[in-house]
Amino acid sequence: MQLLSNYINGVASENHSERIIPVYNPATGKVIRNVALSSADDTREAITVAQNAFNAWKGVTPLNRARIMFKFMALLEQHKSELAKMITHEHGKVFSDAMGEVTRGMEVVEFACGIPHLLKGEHSLNVGRGVDSFSLMQPVGVCVGISPFNFPAMVPMWMFPIALACGNTFVMKPSEKDPSVPLRIAELLTEAGLPDGVFNVVNGDKEAVDVLLTDERVQAVSFVGSTPVAEYIYATASAHGKRVQALGGAKNHMLVMPDADPDQVVGSLMGAAYGSAGERCMAISVAVCVGEQAADTLITRLRKEIDTMRIGPGIDQEEEAHMGPLISAEHAAKVREYVSSGVKDGAKLIVDGREFVCPGNEQGYFVGPTLFDNVKPGMRIYDEEIFGPVLAIVRVETYEEAVAMINSHEYGNGTAIFTRDGDSARQFCEEIQVGMVGVNVPIPVPMAFHSFGGWKRSLFGPLHMHGPDGVRFYTKMKAVTARWPKGQRIGSDFSMPTMS
Ligand code: NAD
Repeated sequence: MQLLSNYINGVASENHSERIIPVYNPATGKVIRNVALSSADDTREAITVAQNAFNAWKGVTPLNRARIMFKFMALLEQHKSELAKMITHEHGKVFSDAMGEVTRGMEVVEFACGIPHLLKGEHSLNVGRGVDSFSLMQPVGVCVGISPFNFPAMVPMWMFPIALACGNTFVMKPSEKDPSVPLRIAELLTEAGLPDGVFNVVNGDKEAVDVLLTDERVQAVSFVGSTPVAEYIYATASAHGKRVQALGGAKNHMLVMPDADPDQVVGSLMGAAYGSAGERCMAISVAVCVGEQAADTLITRLRKEIDTMRIGPGIDQEEEAHMGPLISAEHAAKVREYVSSGVKDGAKLIVDGREFVCPGNEQGYFVGPTLFDNVKPGMRIYDEEIFGPVLAIVRVETYEEAVAMINSHEYGNGTAIFTRDGDSARQFCEEIQVGMVGVNVPIPVPMAFHSFGGWKRSLFGPLHMHGPDGVRFYTKMKAVTARWPKGQRIGSDFSMPTMS
């Protein structure tokens, strides 16, 4: 059986670890390959290679770095469906969704192709008489990316295209649950002309991560994953002097106002709650309905829609499923346990997905779409991130009550308001304590030329990912103030310099 390992210095490289774990196809529950988890020494080797490649790479002009990104982009286009198939086989999401994931990642590569323009910096002529000021945006050095299982292509592509285009070298540590895509991406980068050692992949777990967080040669760490790990990454890497952006978990609310268009709400909510089996950090897992009637109508309509859902393997079906399996048997058991806790806590279970079995794929990690009514803060199914196909309906009487509830949640990744009233929408955008807000848009993931990031315990660190924040994160700004002599000597000045 195939054994995956690392990609270092432009070639697939074996690590020296004895620790080998299986990679599953979640739709069948079968092992499809194995992956070796890097030791601390393997990880240090990747850092050494990236460090050695840095000086030459930072000297390549931004225009030539961009040209490699253009070639990489063309290769991604060519291999898009191959990558999407890999995602579906290891993650479980349906093929069209996997194609969408690759597309969203490619948009960041497109953004990185504009790097000469993005690195122009600032310039002020005559900040004082005969004195000019300008900025240099310089690469930081070896950067690290640590990614979660739920977007094995897109999340790494939130990080490395901009880091590389800015002149940094990179060590990527993907999720050990679906490691194939980042390795294939590394091969494509080499094919696009990226010099050896500039982009490296280390497969592994905490042992590898801890080296990446503490090795003094690493300058910047980008992380996406669960909140407890994000917090650990932020604290550890910051304590070791690195710049860090660590994106964590989420609990995203959709606020349904009484005047919202019911068709638009139901259509949007079905995809946002159950797409990718709820394993998206921007999935809507709570719908807050203002007024009893909005809630009653929504539940009646959702029940009907749920009845028509196709649940099954994400690929090679006559008609594509709407929803595939969860990532692992353990995670499926955890989601079922959450559903049981909701029942115990007094929420009303309207549709129960716990017993769902996929005909022909009885060993797959499927949980059916699940719907709760009368969910309240204080219940675990409201307070905690479930990361499965479980939608909670919360009933409130007023807009103000809804906003106060959303603002008191510990997470602040995404949210959306559905309404026909511009005034409510505008007020919501202004007062909601969440990083990404949709107005009649259920999953408001910013495009690559904007930045992605949540608030509160959904993000540790000041800078969001990709877009302008991505460029800031992967560059050090240097401010130069320059005066050229005009044959006139200026004497020493012992007080704070000011311009005139
Ligand atoms: P995870 O936190 O378990 O793992 C993420 C990465 O951290 C993996 O590469 C893993 O190997 C590593 N890791 C895990 N435990 C570690 C530890 N103790 N020490 C060091 N490294 C460790 O997350 P996951 O289950 O792979 O992904 C799902 C989570 O990611 C969800 O909480 C989801 O909300 C979150 N997520 C957030 C965003 C966002 O943009 N905010 C995007 C995608 C996913």
